[in-house]
Amino acid sequence: MPPATKRKKGEGQWALGYREPLNKNEENKKNDDGLNVRRRIIDIYSKSGFDSIDPSDLRGRFRWMGLYTQRKPGIDGGKTGALEDEELEDRYFMMRVRIDGGQLSGPQLRTIADVSTRYARGTADITDRQNVQLHWVRIEDVPAIWEALEAVGLHTMEACGDVPRVIIGCPLAGIAADEVVDATPRLREIHDRYIGSPEFSNLPRKFKTAMSGCTSHCTVHEINDIAFVGVVDEAGETGYQVFVGGGLSTNPMFAQSLGVFVKPEQTAEVWHGVTSIFRDYGYRRLRSRARLKFLVKDWGAAKFREVLEKEYLGFALPDGPEPAAPLARRDHVGIHPQKDGAYYVGFAPRVGRVDGELLGVIGDLAERYGSGRVRTTNEQKMVILDVPEKDTEALADELAQHDLQVRPSTFRRQTMACTGIEYCKLAIVDTKQRAMDLIDELEERLPDFDQPLTINVNGCPNACARIQVADIGLKGQLVVDDDGEQVEGFQIHLGGRLGASFGKKVRGLKTTSAGLTDYVERVVRRFDEQRTGGETFAEWV
Ligand code: SF4
Repeated sequence: MPPATKRKKGEGQWALGYREPLNKNEENKKNDDGLNVRRRIIDIYSKSGFDSIDPSDLRGRFRWMGLYTQRKPGIDGGKTGALEDEELEDRYFMMRVRIDGGQLSGPQLRTIADVSTRYARGTADITDRQNVQLHWVRIEDVPAIWEALEAVGLHTMEACGDVPRVIIGCPLAGIAADEVVDATPRLREIHDRYIGSPEFSNLPRKFKTAMSGCTSHCTVHEINDIAFVGVVDEAGETGYQVFVGGGLSTNPMFAQSLGVFVKPEQTAEVWHGVTSIFRDYGYRRLRSRARLKFLVKDWGAAKFREVLEKEYLGFALPDGPEPAAPLARRDHVGIHPQKDGAYYVGFAPRVGRVDGELLGVIGDLAERYGSGRVRTTNEQKMVILDVPEKDTEALADELAQHDLQVRPSTFRRQTMACTGIEYCKLAIVDTKQRAMDLIDELEERLPDFDQPLTINVNGCPNACARIQVADIGLKGQLVVDDDGEQVEGFQIHLGGRLGASFGKKVRGLKTTSAGLTDYVERVVRRFDEQRTGGETFAEWV
């Protein structure tokens, strides 16, 4: 008898006729659009309290409005995954305020500062996607918070969930003296047309967009689902190259270039086409395979481009050049000239941790020294714009008085940390405080080290702090210490480099949280002693 042919299981792709939900998440999304939860929060839940919230909203659709329940304090990492959601979660929420392009006006920054102080116990973290994350938010206060945010043009819609998340943009768009193109108008066009639209409120999973025309490639286009990167074609015309299918987490992949040239006025249309491909052809059977990167890997860039052009755009895009190589440090920390003759001043809060009061101070300084305009970066840093050259040092001094350094050590400048066990239900270890201590200790022990070196700290195997593309990536897990006790610690990944290589997991190389500083100090000292010429950490490893 011939062997039975193995029938390839459907991946739940809508375009191939698989419309029936294949898992609980898909079922929830089919039952009710995530965007509809906004009305219920305003009309019912905020009035009747936490206990009135339908579980499928609480642990599902709330994300569409940028809300997650936060972890109950005091539950150790060993219980993560072992407890039911209700046992692990607090009656308070994490709220993500969406800041597309990282662009904040003076009134917007003041509003976030005020909301943080009034409704979020003063908490405010700059995330690595340019958002501000608040904690301790009560359901009763959510409508008032939205009202305050929306009055200044901010919102939390689609800040989480299976939707187009915040659009990353260069913090210096329209400002940097050396930029290729200002992506701001295109970013706003996509935001205004499609964010909150039912057309894209049920994607297979999250969908991350980056748009940039800056030469340092600060938007990390290599690890976004779709990225537009400014280029100039042979005729001297400015436009964008498009990358698709980047993402980290447990199966990290770098985005692939489509090899096209997109005129600025075509950007929204191309974004619409790519997002539609994800919605229609994206895999929906398994959450672990539901990111665009899996489809791009299976199809390849050539087929993806063909489907985009033939089925969605209805025209062929011309071939386009690849962007220039990125700079070693992609952030915008320090004092640098703008194209209009003023200066921008980028500074480094430690791992993005600020608070409502401090944001108010930053707002005051931005108004006193500049025009009030402030930017967040996707390296958890901030930038004040429009400062006259003569005032830059005075501003740097005032920022330093609040521990916001304009010329920070490598460790302060290039260390990032995810939310971690303080608030995240998936976390196994503490990250923010551990990373802040690490910075302080390394600054003391290695005061002269000045080479580029990224240290990214994650509280679990997910990749919120991008550990796979860090020079030193630290993945939180429980480890056994010298006394045989299970304690907080990290699996170490070394030598990750955006667009080039993922950090290598060194077999058996783990450290306890308590031993972390000693470990990093040893590695950094060795690198500093052994490196030759301009050798980077990733090359040295
Ligand atoms: Fe939470 Fe893990 Fe993401 Fe950190 S990496 S924020 S612990 S899910």
